[in-house]
Amino acid sequence: MKKKPFVTKEQLEDIVKQYPTPFHLYDEKGIRENARKVKQAFSWNKGYKEYFAVKATPNPYILQILHEEGFGCDCSSFTELMMSEACGITGEEIMFSSNATPAKEFEYARELGAIINLDDITHIDFLEQHGGIPETISCRYNPGGVFKMSNGIMDNPGDAKYGLTTEQMFEAFRILKQKGAKHFGIHAFLASNTVTNEYYPALAKVLFELAVKLKEETGADIKFINLSGGVGIPYRPDQDPNDILAIGEGVRKVYEEILVPAGMGDVALCTEMGRFILGPYGGLITTAIHEKHTHKEYIGCDACAANLMRPAIYGAYHHITVMGKENEPCDHKYDVTGSLCENSDKFAIDRMLPKIDMGDLLFIHDAGAHGFAMGYNYNGKLRSAEILLQEDGSAKMIRRAETPEDLYATFDFSEFKFPFDRWYE
Ligand SMILES: *Cc1c(COP(=O)(O)O)cnc(C)c1O
Repeated sequence: MKKKPFVTKEQLEDIVKQYPTPFHLYDEKGIRENARKVKQAFSWNKGYKEYFAVKATPNPYILQILHEEGFGCDCSSFTELMMSEACGITGEEIMFSSNATPAKEFEYARELGAIINLDDITHIDFLEQHGGIPETISCRYNPGGVFKMSNGIMDNPGDAKYGLTTEQMFEAFRILKQKGAKHFGIHAFLASNTVTNEYYPALAKVLFELAVKLKEETGADIKFINLSGGVGIPYRPDQDPNDILAIGEGVRKVYEEILVPAGMGDVALCTEMGRFILGPYGGLITTAIHEKHTHKEYIGCDACAANLMRPAIYGAYHHITVMGKENEPCDHKYDVTGSLCENSDKFAIDRMLPKIDMGDLLFIHDAGAHGFAMGYNYNGKLRSAEILLQEDGSAKMIRRAETPEDLYATFDFSEFKFPFDRWYE
């Protein structure tokens, strides 16, 4: 499928006049339409709720849009809890799915009334001391081994640091009941960025079967089952996108096969998707500022891996559109690079693209999730702005770009004189 940016060259040129590149751009219309489709896919389940994984795109404006669409927040750190609270998203609209959790994070999550999803059996005592055991509590399951689907091995839960073993799940539910817990949730995250409609149904089968056994053997009231994240997006143009409606139907079939006959037809489902909710609806916008002809052909951009690190750390593919040249032949082979002193700082290697001229705007696709969020300050690079393309077509800055003052704010300014003023009017 041909990948098309959600802005035109003309729109983007207007935005760039106001906000210089590089920046992350988000598509409100696309976000809302996709969110509605997700809800529709699971509308057959009465209690269904998506808890957006805040870590994917931690911006309060984005969280607010998703909250308006009925989503809660999946948080896993102190500051993610803060952002959620700032957006008025509290109580059972927060799923706190954390691991190796510091005491004060449990305390804060309990204070907000968040649903706690425990990552380990030893966290029961820890939570009891730091916040207390709530009436509703969830445990994260890790079946170990490899998680396979009909199209091959998908992931390796046996190597993952997360979750409780099968035996520990039973033990944990018994202990939690003794300590006063009344309602239970079960959570698992067994594969990441799955581009197949099979993942959620296959995961649901594992969790639903476990839920029936847990109920039978411990008498626990299973209130919800959390399919977590892992639903992927087609980063490559030759991949078929997931069909969330088909995924919802696939989960429904398993629900009716396993939970309904067990008298558990009132169990609510939840999800904690991040990538699927935001990934395609964000792009990194950068300008081509250098071309270099040595052993290879290089295009140097004003963005770098500090703005989007997935290609540098995972070798991940991100599609690139040269704005205004969508219909020109891809007859030039380029490495598209950033300016970090790291040879891995390449958005694309040996990529066939139309001829790029200096000043061309590049749209780097599918940067809406785990994009800005994974940014860092190596080489003293400043984090870029985040801009929202609103439904009415206007652009709104939802986070300004960092300044040198931001970067150096944690030094004691009284001991050194940083040359800030000289660089500003
Ligand atoms: C990262 C994460 C998610 C979101 O994962 P995606 O692949 O972005 O859908 C959900 N839940 C937990 C606990 C996570 O760590």
